[in-house]
Amino acid sequence: MKSSSTIKMVDLNGQYLRIKDEIDDGIRKTIESSAFINGPAVREFRENLGRYLGGIDVIPCANGTDALQIALMALGLKPGDEVIVPAFTYVSSAEVIALLGLTPVMVDVDPRTFNVTVGNIRKALTSKTKAIIPVHLFGQSCDMEPIMEFAAGHGLYVIEDNAQALGADYCFSDGHRVMTGTIGDIGCTSFFPSKNLGCYGDGGAIFCKDKELAGKIAMIANHGQKIKYHHSVIGCNSRLDTIQAAILNVKLRHLDEYSSARRKAAEYYTSKLRAFDPGEKFFETPADCPSKGSHVWHQYTLKVRNGLRDALKAYLANLGIPSMIYYPLPLNEQQAYKGIAREGEPLPHSKECAGSVLSLPVHTELTADVQDEIIASVIGFFSKTV
Ligand SMILES: *Cc1c(COP(=O)(O)O)cnc(C)c1O
Repeated sequence: MKSSSTIKMVDLNGQYLRIKDEIDDGIRKTIESSAFINGPAVREFRENLGRYLGGIDVIPCANGTDALQIALMALGLKPGDEVIVPAFTYVSSAEVIALLGLTPVMVDVDPRTFNVTVGNIRKALTSKTKAIIPVHLFGQSCDMEPIMEFAAGHGLYVIEDNAQALGADYCFSDGHRVMTGTIGDIGCTSFFPSKNLGCYGDGGAIFCKDKELAGKIAMIANHGQKIKYHHSVIGCNSRLDTIQAAILNVKLRHLDEYSSARRKAAEYYTSKLRAFDPGEKFFETPADCPSKGSHVWHQYTLKVRNGLRDALKAYLANLGIPSMIYYPLPLNEQQAYKGIAREGEPLPHSKECAGSVLSLPVHTELTADVQDEIIASVIGFFSKTV
């Protein structure tokens, strides 16, 4: 076998080596200046990212989960208010809703895009519903236009969880395109190392167009103070380290290249895998809807048919090829949320996705040779089972 021992889900070291000088320089300057907390690189990053996103206030914070929590805190919701989240996603959004004494209401996702739909959101609406957290899962925008119209019609806030889709955009029906994370009232993202724009530790940010709300968010992230030692609201301590900001200033310049590399890899998988299984007898390749916006492929996720997902995963592992199950259990079936979340409609698609998804390696350093090996192994498994 060729290079299986080196196949990784993500290759952060390979990515670092290509920008090593710039990164090392940024880290060294921060250490030499000793401006570890809220140093100049943090301010630069706020401005750089705000500009990248088309002109929006950016409030950096400690991680993506904090970003979601601070966003919810800024909306002044009351215990018992309901917030709608997808059932098939990472735990963060439901977690912060519950931590604030609000009620998470989990709704089903579209079985092809893995994203929440306005139809499922509508079914979950009650007089207590106050906000919706659409998650742009795996790097592709939710269909935001109908969600924003629905939210406006019912006076609901929209907080976008953009942790997996930074760099993606969404195309409205009149043709205008907007970066994901800047469509709703508030957008949240994470700079966890493996995210599309990742730092070398934890980091996160909140985006907000409304100046007044942005000011409140910045205040909450900083102990609820605008003037030092004068606390007008209850806040928290959530900051992006200066060293991480210095790293992100370098990596942000490469984000569009990174997205293109991921897109190229994803398109290569899809063309080869579709050619092998055009009738989707064995698996579904992930939906890509370019007319609805650009996908940035945080994950490349197959849905494996006929209950063979775990067998395929084991077969690949045996050949030294990693794969991951994002996510094995929908939120409504998680023990922690039993009796906390309001049970609404049955969520068959979330359950079906959790039971069939398998994410293959996709990252900025993936080569066609390595992809060929992965593709041949997937095909080898299904050729054996027929
Ligand atoms: C990674 C992630 C988060 C949380 O980000 P952290 O920085 O790890 O707190 C939230 N939501 C989604 C969808 C994520 O993928």
